[in-house]
Amino acid sequence: MASARQIHVGAVPIGGGAPVAVQTMTKTETANLSATMDQIHRVAEAGADIVRVAVPREQDVEALKTIVAQSPIPIIADIHFNHTLALKAIEAGAHCVRLNPGNIGGPDKVAEVARLATAKGTPLRIGVNSGSLPKHLRDLEFTNPVEALVTAAVEFVELMERLEFTNFKVSMKSTSVPNTIASNRLLAQRIPYPLHLGITEAGTRWTGSLKSAVGLGTLLADGVGDTIRISLSTFHAEEEVKVAWEILKALKLRERGPVLIACPTCGRLQFDMDSVVMEVERRLEAYEDAIEVSILGCAVNGIGEARHADFGITGAKDMGMIYSKGEPLKKVATEDLVDELFKEIDRYYAAGKTVVADEREAAAAREWLAANEDDTQMTPERMAALEAAAADAEAEAAEPAPVIDEAASPVDGRRFSRA
Ligand code: SF4
Repeated sequence: MASARQIHVGAVPIGGGAPVAVQTMTKTETANLSATMDQIHRVAEAGADIVRVAVPREQDVEALKTIVAQSPIPIIADIHFNHTLALKAIEAGAHCVRLNPGNIGGPDKVAEVARLATAKGTPLRIGVNSGSLPKHLRDLEFTNPVEALVTAAVEFVELMERLEFTNFKVSMKSTSVPNTIASNRLLAQRIPYPLHLGITEAGTRWTGSLKSAVGLGTLLADGVGDTIRISLSTFHAEEEVKVAWEILKALKLRERGPVLIACPTCGRLQFDMDSVVMEVERRLEAYEDAIEVSILGCAVNGIGEARHADFGITGAKDMGMIYSKGEPLKKVATEDLVDELFKEIDRYYAAGKTVVADEREAAAAREWLAANEDDTQMTPERMAALEAAAADAEAEAAEPAPVIDEAASPVDGRRFSRA
């Protein structure tokens, strides 16, 4: 259920079925040009499609002209309380201006901003925050916070429509994950405009990432949301971008860079897999292709669990193995696993994305695998596979059996219908 309408922030389409856009916000003092531009370049490199900068003062709006001119990605100016700054941000060339119509000084001021935005073709993001709802909704906020948020957003949308301004997206922010999910689901049914999703003040890298993954992931899986920002308490805005990408990659909504798969480890592990996984993850950041790399802690499952991976390693006490698409490539000492894995990946790219196998080394690896795998062990992976098979069988048994209606088929006399 992508939004019916589409807007463009710079060259980035938002809504109307466009790929979900990744946003973040700089954490620097905007007027500090070198620090702000450094951060913008870092977030762009990490994959941000759009970046927002705070514009609370005259010197920030002055800096905005240079930032817009030098930024590799579109800039959104974040304005609160001061409609004059919103007007100046539009004049400075901001690709979008974010404002809360409830705190900008009344409908006349909103109208003034909308007029200039129309003249310059600048889209707006109109935002509602659970902490700053209009006064007449405060009682409703107490009894039904979801309805209060949605009502505030719809009222702002109606105000913009009365002003004949429709070049906007909408955001409703709450610190509550359930309220964010419920309110955005409701709003997506009520308005056709693109939605920006985020959990406000989500927390640290750890808790904030999890809350965002649950809240935004649930909505995105439903098809709600056109652009996302992960709000984390860190000065490194690129961390927000990385988390946003992991959410989009996990839902297969967008592809960017490698996908790392790693087993959860268990008592069968015989080497320091934690360090290996971290090192592989770090080195994979240098690759742009969406290759899949798998790390298994041991070989008792064989490599069946990672048969689809482009490359993978499985370790043991002293020796491990490198494989590709389920085929052993070579056996190596455990301490060389990571280096040898990346040698194979680089060889693959050098050969035009072709796996280059040395038959003698592959034979030794197959031998090692045969000696180490144990298909009698009840491993976490095998238990998960058995549980999944049992669930499938149960679901199949619960479904009504198909009935063959022989008389009705125009082709071969067989048509299936449900009893
Ligand atoms: S049995 Fe599975 S979870 Fe345990 S170390 Fe081996 S691959 Fe990892």
